[in-house]
Order: sequence, then C-alpha cells, then structure tokens
Amino acid sequence: MTEIENHKDIIIIGGGPAGLSAGIYSARGGAKTTIFSGMLPGGQLIQTMEVENFPGFFESTPGADIMQNVMKQAKRLGCEISSDEITEVDFTVKPFKVFTSSKKTFTADSVIISTGARAQWMGIPSETQFRNKGVSSCATCDGFFHRNKDVCVIGGGDTAVEDALFLTKFANKVYLVHRRDKLRASHRSVERLRTNPKVEILYDSVLDEVVGGEKVTGVKIKHVKTNDIKEIELSGVFIAIGYKPETSLFKDKIEINAQGYIKTDGHSKTSVEGVFAAGDVMDPNYKQAIVAAGTGAIASMEALKYIEELECDAFIKRQACKTEE
Ligand code: NDP
Repeated sequence: MTEIENHKDIIIIGGGPAGLSAGIYSARGGAKTTIFSGMLPGGQLIQTMEVENFPGFFESTPGADIMQNVMKQAKRLGCEISSDEITEVDFTVKPFKVFTSSKKTFTADSVIISTGARAQWMGIPSETQFRNKGVSSCATCDGFFHRNKDVCVIGGGDTAVEDALFLTKFANKVYLVHRRDKLRASHRSVERLRTNPKVEILYDSVLDEVVGGEKVTGVKIKHVKTNDIKEIELSGVFIAIGYKPETSLFKDKIEINAQGYIKTDGHSKTSVEGVFAAGDVMDPNYKQAIVAAGTGAIASMEALKYIEELECDAFIKRQACKTEE
C-alpha cells in the first residue's frame, strides 16, 4: 500500500467516548476519518458494569454495551475503526504522519488525540479481585449503588476529597483513608470534609486488603506508624489516588502540562496547529464519558474547520498559479 492510499483527512488516536464521538462528527462532516482504537476499543467505560448517567440509556446499562452502540454508529456513518496501535507520531511535517504497530504509515491533514487517562490503582491483589464488585475508581459513576451503606475513599488529594463529599449524598458513612497526616486537597474542600458529620478521616492509614465474597463486604486498614490493622465493614471502596494521562507518545511533540495533561486553548486546540485533543487526556477535572464525548465533538468541529481552511488556502494557491501562467 502506498502512502497516498493511506492518507486520511482526520486521524483520531484513541477509541473511547471522546474518540468515537469525534469520529461520528468527523465522518458526518464529510471527512475521511480513521480512529485508531488500539486492541481494546471503547475506553475506560467498558470496565463499568452499570452506567446510569449516560443520556439516552434509560435502564442501567453495561458500559461495554453503550460503547458497542457508539462504535456501530461511527462505522455506519463511514468512520473506519482500526485496532492497530499507534507507536509513533510526527507532527513536524504536513500532512502529519502516524506509524502503527503493524508497520504501516498513515498521513493526515488533522489529528485528534483522545488517548484518555488511566486511573491509578493501589496494585494489591484483592483490589483487582473486587474491581466492579464494590471497588471502583469513579464515585460519580458508582456512588449511587451504595445508598444508605458505608464506603471508603482512598487518597488525600482533591479527587479523593470531592469523591468523599459526593458519596455523603448516598452513603450512610464515608471513611477517607489517607497515607499521611495531612491532606493534599485544597483548604476549602478539606474544611467541608472535616465538618461533614458523615465523614471520618483515617490519617496515616493505608488499604491493606479488600475483603468479601461475591461483592465487597469490608476492608482491612493498616496504620502506617503502629502497623495496627483495623477491620471495617462496608460495601464500597473508591480508589482516588490520581490519574495518569496517556501522553507518552506525544512527549516533546506537543505541549503537556506539569500534571501530564495535553495543554489546549479550552477549545481542543493544542500547541501544534492542526492537532486537537479531547477527553480525559486534556481534562484533569471531570473524567466523565459524557464530558469526553462532548469534547470529542468540539475537537472534530475544530478539525473540520481547520481542514476546510487548508483546502481554501490550497485552492487560492492553485488559482494564483493559474493566473501567473
Ligand atoms: P493527586 O495526585 O493530587 O492526589 C493523589 C492522592 O493520592 C495524594 O493524596 C497521594 O498521597 C495519594 N496517593 C498516591 N498514591 C498513593 C498510593 N499508592 N497509596 C495511597 N495513597 C496514594 O491526584 P488527584 O486526582 O486528587 O488530583 C489531580 C489534580 O487534579 C490535582 O492538581 C488536583 O488539584 C486537581 N483536581 C482539581 C479538582 C478541582 O479543582 N475541583 C478536582 C479534582 C482534581 P500524598 O498526598 O501522600 O502524595
């Protein structure tokens, strides 16, 4: 296959809610579009068993089913979805170049990056065993299932504190488990947490083990100074120890902020003209599929506008050449 055959108007790297929504908008906008989704298309949402906050899905629905529908929708509209992994990008040339693990090279007038951010996990075996059975990294997604029950949140940053406060809306009691004696979160949120009667903060404490049968029934919490183990009965464990945006491919190729997120102008434009970013890879705050989908749509609309301007420039140049002749 020659490089010409491998040219696309828009290439989207990442096939979660942001990438697929960008694909839907791009294909509908008339652009020859390919999404490189990697081996696991659908993004983080496919790990969630019950989604109740994605508009259009009346019943609680597995995230994988929702993303299957979105993929079908993107394909029906003419968007190609490839499971090939992107191993390298070159944004110094135009059209841009992307290289895949199957040793193919594609060129594109515009690239949308939607590679997401991975929630960090503690890495203890019982945490993996009970994932989606009471262990979660998304309070907004799963908090509702713990109405009138006890839960714990692990972490001491803004995400952990906000998750704990959010969970007080449903849960009977929320334990915040933090490994140090001081929270990292902003003063204002910490004050709100401290004064909330449903919250108990366990300082100098770490999650030692998640216990349960079919689902979580409790946790063992270790005090790091005394090594004492305390057992707590509860139904939910929310891990909020930070996120890692998937930006390693783009290091030194576009601007990335100190937390590792791609810098944008707020409307998906990155530091390289023609390269756009959408979803969790550029959003440290919301981490919601619906937000990612929205930013995917924005990135696509910006990319379409950019391509149109490119074509306009080329057309003007062609006309100028003809006049000179
Ligand atoms: P942070 O990196 O700020 O905090 C992570 C927390 O998890 C820290 O308290 C850290 O402990 C703890 N932690 C990390 N690894 C482990 C581990 N292995 N075991 C136990 N605890 C661990 O991540 P956040 O997701 O909270 O926030 C990321 C960024 O997003 C921050 O800049 C934050 O301010 C921002 N943010 C802003 C919000 C807002 O403005 N509304 C909302 C949410 C996030 P330690 O403190 O000891 O390092």
